[in-house]
Amino acid sequence: MISINSSYISCPRKFYDKENERNFRRVELSERSNPEANYLSERKENLRQRNFRVGSLKGEQLYGCDNRLNQNCKMTPKFLGGNSSNNKEEIQKGDNALNENKFEEALASYTKAQNLDPDNIDLYKKIAKVQFHLKNYEISEENYKKYLEKDPQNIDVLTELGEVQRQKGDYKKAVNTFESVLKIESNNDLAKRSILETKNNILSCYNPMQASKEKAEQARKNLNAALNMAAYYLTPQYMQELSDVKIRFGETSKMGGTSNIAQYENSKNTITVSNTYIYAAPEVIAAYLVHETVHAKDNDPYTSVKEEQDAYKLATEFWINNSKGIKDPEMDYAAELYKESPSKLSNRVEEIYVLRDPDIAKTSPNHPPEENKKRSLFPKHQSASQSLKSYNIIA
Ligand SMILES: [Zn+2]
Repeated sequence: MISINSSYISCPRKFYDKENERNFRRVELSERSNPEANYLSERKENLRQRNFRVGSLKGEQLYGCDNRLNQNCKMTPKFLGGNSSNNKEEIQKGDNALNENKFEEALASYTKAQNLDPDNIDLYKKIAKVQFHLKNYEISEENYKKYLEKDPQNIDVLTELGEVQRQKGDYKKAVNTFESVLKIESNNDLAKRSILETKNNILSCYNPMQASKEKAEQARKNLNAALNMAAYYLTPQYMQELSDVKIRFGETSKMGGTSNIAQYENSKNTITVSNTYIYAAPEVIAAYLVHETVHAKDNDPYTSVKEEQDAYKLATEFWINNSKGIKDPEMDYAAELYKESPSKLSNRVEEIYVLRDPDIAKTSPNHPPEENKKRSLFPKHQSASQSLKSYNIIA
């Protein structure tokens, strides 16, 4: 049932610049007591001469809008400061462009808004995020730091700053930044998994084979643990229907520039969890597995608003019962909505999935409308007999 697709992690070439080489040495010295880093120094010269592949770290998402409900994608953003209506308009234009992954356009709007209202600190954060997507990591980092001067305890921003530093190859700085998040919120799983990922990046610079081996081992163990948790939560009968589904970590498809956290492919009978979650707590991975089992159980290439709502509901209920205080921004956001009322979560799911795919059906096989809403849920263009749009990939 489980197959592991371990990808080879490469080291950014930039890491071998002079400045980074100094950082690299500092990492080495400060991690003398760390057995993970300790034995590697003797191989350093040898490995430095190797021709490292570049690029496999590319394309990892920070936070996107596509299969996430998280507040970063709110359609009605909250404005901090900015009194003029021109300014609000520009910010709204920027947010809309960012939601559609039109980064140059978003940057132009945010820059105009910043000229109109230089004191709006939220704009530093927005510009930093866009510059991250444009891979202008230096400028992104500067803007995150400017934001943090005013709001130094902001966990989301600190985590995003750490990710910029990781992408730059400033691994030691990145670890420090993620650790500063843990000082504020000790159970923050995104910071925890980012530290482990960054340490594996450091290891890959000394010993790529070992780093790859350790990552594959972590993936195997973690996926097993997550699957056991999901199976324990679901009934044996439910799991029986999924016995031929393959589950793995791997590259997931991008929806408008952002990788799916997890996805189901009916043609391959496979659930794939993004390999950016290899170091996540098994509880987090299990929540996404629970979501994907809702798609996989139907054994069809269809999805719908109702099917996504059912998947989110089951995953969120799992999370509320099993998260043991672990903080995950995406699942916590879903749980927060669900606790306010399950329909609030359902409405948010509908909003996000319709924004992403305006043609998504309201219902699909096994995911019928609630009895009393049966009529109104079928839109004019979609009668029950009409064939459904099929999907290669369902997230
Ligand atoms: Zn889904």
